[in-house]
Amino acid sequence: MTEQKIPYKIYLSEDEIPTQWYNLRADMINKPAPLLNPGTHEPLKAEELAPIFCEELVQQELDDTTAYIDIPEEIQEYYKTYRPSPTMRAYHLEKALGTPAKIYYKFEGNNTSGSHKLNSALAQAYYAKKQGLKGVTTETGAGQWGTALSMACAYFGLDCKVFMVKVSYEQKPFRREVMRTYGADVTPSPSETTEVGKKILAEHPGTTGSLGCAISEAVEVATTHEGYRYVLGSVLNQVLLHQSVIGLEAKAALDKYGVTPDIIIGCAGGGSNLGGLIAPFMGQKIRGEQDYRIIAVEPASCPSFTRGKFAYDFCDTGMICPLAKMYTLGSGFIPSPNHAGGLRFHGMSTVLSQLYADGLMEATSVEQTSVFEAAEYFARTEGILPAPESSHAIRAAIDEALKCKETGEEKTILFGLTGTGYFDMVAYENYHNGTMTDYIPTDEDLAQGFAGIPQFPGNEF
Ligand SMILES: *Cc1c(COP(=O)(O)O)cnc(C)c1O
Repeated sequence: MTEQKIPYKIYLSEDEIPTQWYNLRADMINKPAPLLNPGTHEPLKAEELAPIFCEELVQQELDDTTAYIDIPEEIQEYYKTYRPSPTMRAYHLEKALGTPAKIYYKFEGNNTSGSHKLNSALAQAYYAKKQGLKGVTTETGAGQWGTALSMACAYFGLDCKVFMVKVSYEQKPFRREVMRTYGADVTPSPSETTEVGKKILAEHPGTTGSLGCAISEAVEVATTHEGYRYVLGSVLNQVLLHQSVIGLEAKAALDKYGVTPDIIIGCAGGGSNLGGLIAPFMGQKIRGEQDYRIIAVEPASCPSFTRGKFAYDFCDTGMICPLAKMYTLGSGFIPSPNHAGGLRFHGMSTVLSQLYADGLMEATSVEQTSVFEAAEYFARTEGILPAPESSHAIRAAIDEALKCKETGEEKTILFGLTGTGYFDMVAYENYHNGTMTDYIPTDEDLAQGFAGIPQFPGNEF
């Protein structure tokens, strides 16, 4: 029997865009640990989250039982402007590597914000608007989330205040201007505009900032301004829920051609793209229907899964956010400034953390020069200029494909190509000039971060 020829790009039709998100938590046997009130260490109730997050998003955050949640019509309408995103067969990469492996990638960079983050930004802006709010506040690191949220706020008519990690604000002026084009107000963090920002600046003068600091500032502004709520682009359960469109589409596309991946790979910052990509596959795995090897790839300079502790910790440096049980490097951990490749958050989604603790997925870490080497190889073979974050997954996918070359195994690999790298040319420049270095934190560096993890009965690690 001749095999059906698989196209370079498998596109679903607009009618095949998912109309429901899939909530993997409903199928998890060990549920992710609940968020805790940092004062009482009791699980947070919906009314305690309501001053920070929109009502409907609070419900989604706390819902561990509803497997499918309808995607509101208004969100579907905007999804149709850039979805379905293609599931690509990397024929050129396979040929260049000389591997018998079959490599697929789900490409989420086909929208102006350049990444998967728009999938959740639209949902979060929609619910804020529906609640009658004036605006939302957020943080952004490399700028993709801020850009996605700016687009979503422009579409739904909401004010958008973005705290941008200072080093990115300075290094990525174009990203900043894209956000302003969509109407967002962008402030470098830490800033003098918030109490927590002033405090962080007093303690660490000259700091180039971190996502944790920027989160603290954005939360402060949301909770002290009438009609504002805070929104977060990753880590939270609700964000993984929205990102399930990635996995649902990828699975539907592969199913059309009878393709079942053996290995699924994604980069992991806060865990949203990976959580979204693997959702339907992991659901099958948990239900015992199909087995997959699932690999999270993180930077060696910010190794939450591979070297972090599984404990309750703050999501922000200012320690004002709820406590989440996750693999963490400590909320005070700030990756070395030479780290160019994104994925610099100290913690990890509680969903993915629980799955990892239960042995349902693996994690690996990679060094940034090898990530850029993979990025360049991919650009030259497949043509797409990948985001440095996405290139962590490319690195791991290439490594798995090269193992297949050695063993002769024809494994099927699916990885998430989360975005494009047009705004990361300073990092690419450093790589080309040979000035990019690798920095792996020492055990002593990590111990400093771990010392900041709150200690209370039941939180031993
Ligand atoms: C934000 C981002 C990531 C990492 O975030 P996750 O929440 O872990 O998915 C990865 N790739 C790109 C392009 C991003 O913008």
